[in-house]
Amino acid sequence: MGKIKKIGVLTSGGDAPGMNAAIRAVTRTAIYNGLEVIGIRHGYLGMINANFKPLQAHSVSDTIQRGGTILKTARCEEFRKPEGRKKAYENLRAAEIDGVVVIGGDGSFKGANIFNEEYDIPFVGVPGTIDNDIFGTDYTIGYDTALNTVVQCVDKIRDTASALNRMFFVEVMGAESGHIALYSGIATGAEAIIMPEIKGNARDIRKMLETGNKRKKSSNIIIVAEGDEAGGALAIAERLKPELQDYEIRVSILGHLQRGGSPSALDRVNASRLGNAAVEALLDGQQSVMVGLQNNEIVLVPFRKAVKQHKGLNQHLVDIIDVLNI
Ligand code: ATP
Repeated sequence: MGKIKKIGVLTSGGDAPGMNAAIRAVTRTAIYNGLEVIGIRHGYLGMINANFKPLQAHSVSDTIQRGGTILKTARCEEFRKPEGRKKAYENLRAAEIDGVVVIGGDGSFKGANIFNEEYDIPFVGVPGTIDNDIFGTDYTIGYDTALNTVVQCVDKIRDTASALNRMFFVEVMGAESGHIALYSGIATGAEAIIMPEIKGNARDIRKMLETGNKRKKSSNIIIVAEGDEAGGALAIAERLKPELQDYEIRVSILGHLQRGGSPSALDRVNASRLGNAAVEALLDGQQSVMVGLQNNEIVLVPFRKAVKQHKGLNQHLVDIIDVLNI
């Protein structure tokens, strides 16, 4: 592989607030270093359809504060197949793109990893997902904003729950992981948190509510991670109703509002760092790696590691749920 002169950048999978800040950092770092930049629209689909758009420094003006992604994103079945990836390669070659920054989640990195096993155009990843579920990085772009959105919503639910002595099951996003549930639960003083990593805890709600002073509380908030094995908040609340007859139960599913909104300061700053580091990594000859943050330092993690392992929950936070809830 010769010297990199032109790079592509795309967003893939679920959108996350802060992706625009990352696109901006990639674009401006590349131009600063004398490279050309091509925006690839609609994720891997745009690679297969050659949906390319040159980006200048001003193309990303006035975007750092905007949610969503100016390049659009997509889930693309065709890229899972060898023929789809071949088409993508041919289009990248024809456009003389000799490096790609993929901003997305672990599915996007699986695709990037397979592509780099087959073809010689280097891909570098930037973790962008509200779920914060990528192994090898403490942080993913969008998580902080989503978390703050959840906290604001749960605070509002708490007001009405207290006024009417109600119990709310609040379902939050997080795919197969409980990071949003755990952090938002701690931040809102939830009485219980149901997460996929803690097996069977949906069954123990009654017991949890009977510890300490919880029975005297005028409101109860149970945070439910959408990916829990016991089902979503509706299913869990329905199943527990018979044993919670002394509580007036309501369910609130926060849904897609968790993905939207202007990114937090932390998401903007970290996305700027990660986007910058991704271009530096390409210039250094790296490929098949994700740039991540560990202990607030930039690290490079091979895709194959980032996609293989499940990122565990912060055990200290798990340990203090009950302590803080007596
Ligand atoms: P989020 O965490 O927000 O869901 P993600 O990147 O994990 O984001 P996915 O839908 O899992 O989102 O993956 C995005 C895209 O990556 C897929 O639509 C597909 O094009 C590609 N991809 C995922 N897994 C593979 C795979 N095993 N092989 C090839 N491509 C893949």
